[in-house]
Amino acid sequence: MSSRMRVTKGHTGNRRGHHGIVMPRLSICSNCGGYHERHRVCLECGFYKGKQVFNVKNKKSLVTDANDKKSNDDSKKATNKKIETKDKEKIKESKVEKKVQRRETNK
Ligand SMILES: [Zn+2]
Repeated sequence: MSSRMRVTKGHTGNRRGHHGIVMPRLSICSNCGGYHERHRVCLECGFYKGKQVFNVKNKKSLVTDANDKKSNDDSKKATNKKIETKDKEKIKESKVEKKVQRRETNK
């Protein structure tokens, strides 16, 4: 091992500087006074920036709705991809036809 590959104490320290577990920064909710993560909805009362974002009692149903939306988006993306692949195949076919035509004209 050459001296250039040596990991110094400082280098090790710099790498391990990110290893500590840090408590999330908590703020006090303006509505209910409970703790919540900064820039996140208060999970106790469902308020964010003084507005009711979701109803805590219906939280489970809202979460399932969001999941349904996601699955719908995924299916849309899948159909889009299929269409794209079809288009690519068409383009390839048209290119091949053009090449064939050029060869025929050259002869
Ligand atoms: Zn709250």
